[in-house]
Amino acid sequence: MSEGALERDTSRRVALVTGGSRGIGRETALALATDGYDVAIVYAGNAERAQAVVDELGDLGACARAYRCDVSNAEEVDACVKQVLADFGSVWTLVNNAGVTADGLLLRMSEDDFDRVIKVNLKGTFLMTKALTRQFMRQRGGHIINVSSVVGVMGNAGQANYAASKAGVIGFTKSVARELAGRGVTANVVAPGFVRTDMTAKLSDSIIASYEGQIPLGRLCDPDAIANAIAFLASDAADYITGVVLPVDGGMSM
Ligand code: NAP
Repeated sequence: MSEGALERDTSRRVALVTGGSRGIGRETALALATDGYDVAIVYAGNAERAQAVVDELGDLGACARAYRCDVSNAEEVDACVKQVLADFGSVWTLVNNAGVTADGLLLRMSEDDFDRVIKVNLKGTFLMTKALTRQFMRQRGGHIINVSSVVGVMGNAGQANYAASKAGVIGFTKSVARELAGRGVTANVVAPGFVRTDMTAKLSDSIIASYEGQIPLGRLCDPDAIANAIAFLASDAADYITGVVLPVDGGMSM
């Protein structure tokens, strides 16, 4: 995992973005780099895509490195966070964005599919946040931004496991916001609607059309819409915002 010490301008803040190799995570890493962050990205297995993002971040003037880590595995998370802190020296903003789906109607949903989605989306958020909490408390500041979903707020037929994981992320984040507020650390949720990424590329045209019919703004969005909201919550302009769920869903959940 280690490639030696990073030479970087330590006046720049550091962000750790899970699921940073693709989709919303990639776009978030780029937005944070544009705002002056150095960025550590975590990915599950797609080393080539992760390296491509590191190169893009470098082109934006950010110091960046990719870390392979399964966020649902406590040992891997602890080792990864330790390495990120050794390489970058600190982490000011954590974006828990890594997520998976395993859709199916309840009667056909296997226990494995339920457990896997909860483990990556909810337990992964818990493990990453816990692993960095001592650092946040020590530095008496920082931002935790957890990516939930409109589905965690409204539910969705065929996604009971995913909805449960994303609703769990909301309760988890509000609790963390209360626990860490005294140390100046904020914890917020961004709840995207339907976004054009690999995750939604597998949906049929008829399902996409039915979602578009439920979105007041009438269209899916691109990942930059979500990244912009995350970058705002990671900025000093959002220092007095904690414990909120910010929907970025074209009005779907109102
Ligand atoms: P995506 O394109 O499928 O990318 C998923 C990312 O998560 C990849 O970087 C992947 O790494 C990483 N990942 C998956 N499992 C992991 C694990 N166990 N450990 C570490 N990293 C892991 O997803 P997306 O559409 O950008 O979604 C990002 C987040 O937004 C997810 O939490 C998702 O639930 C949420 N969201 C998405 C939508 C949407 O419409 N797309 C809507 C609402 C919420 P590899 O590249 O190595 O596989």
